[in-house]
Amino acid sequence: MQRIVSSITTLEHHCNALSQTPEVYRPPCCPHCGLKVLWRHGYYHRKADRGRHGEASFNPVPISRYCCSGCRRTCSRLPLCIAPRRWYDWLVQQDVLQKLLSGFSLHACSRCTCLDRRTVRRWRDWLHARSATFAFFLRSRFPELGRSDEGPPFWRAVLDHMPLAEVMGWLDRDLIVP
Ligand SMILES: [Zn+2]
Repeated sequence: MQRIVSSITTLEHHCNALSQTPEVYRPPCCPHCGLKVLWRHGYYHRKADRGRHGEASFNPVPISRYCCSGCRRTCSRLPLCIAPRRWYDWLVQQDVLQKLLSGFSLHACSRCTCLDRRTVRRWRDWLHARSATFAFFLRSRFPELGRSDEGPPFWRAVLDHMPLAEVMGWLDRDLIVP
């Protein structure tokens, strides 16, 4: 659904883009009704900077919001470096998935990453539930991923091929990245 702007991979780049080329974030059409007439509607903020603190931090990170002139609902697009509807960023989730895919138990993965076991389980189930759909769209773009079933070997190959954020950037062109 083109919710993700794949070309923007760092918070610094995002903040520069907001001031210099803000139109990069204008959605091509309303994700709710499809109308192409959207006007700018301020910002909302995400505490997306998990690495820097104090003065150096980009938090709170502004995200441009748009309002549809038809249905009046709002929408926005995110840079690749900020994951939709997640507190953790893609890299943290990628690390967890790679550990699980290489055979770590939920318990071991939770202990190694210092993440709650429920979070680890939720991400495992998240991928499991969508695996076939994700695999279908990824294979249509990357035939080199092969035709093997979409179990752990497939996902290990995917994540060796590109980071999770980039996987989601590609999937976002075909479906709503959950
Ligand atoms: Zn609309």
